[in-house]
Amino acid sequence: MAKKLEILIIGGSAAGPTAASSARRKAPEANVTMLEQGDFVSVGA
Ligand SMILES: Cc1cc2nc3c(=O)[nH]c(=O)nc-3n(C[C@H](O)[C@H](O)[C@H](O)COP(=O)(O)OP(=O)(O)OC[C@H]3O[C@@H](n4cnc5c(N)ncnc54)[C@H](O)[C@@H]3O)c2cc1C
Repeated sequence: MAKKLEILIIGGSAAGPTAASSARRKAPEANVTMLEQGDFVSVGA
């Protein structure tokens, strides 16, 4: 069975969601997980 690409992104402020959306576009088959230690994600977007 082929292994599924796992992408883990640490931080959900500005760079994190940008990286997540880029990863999703470039590797739509991958599992993309973003971790944010705070209560809010991408508050500036
Ligand atoms: C005073 C000031 C004013 C600014 N003004 C502007 C402006 O007007 N316009 C502009 O475009 N930019 C501005 N910037 C720059 C902008 O804030 C940064 O470029 C941008 O926030 C960088 O985003 P980032 O995602 O790289 O990092 P950060 O915003 O630092 O986000 C990192 C995230 O990672 C999380 N994190 C860290 N460690 C962990 C962990 N171990 N597990 C899970 N999550 C974790 C944090 O909680 C945080 O949410 C300003 C910066 C400063 C300091």
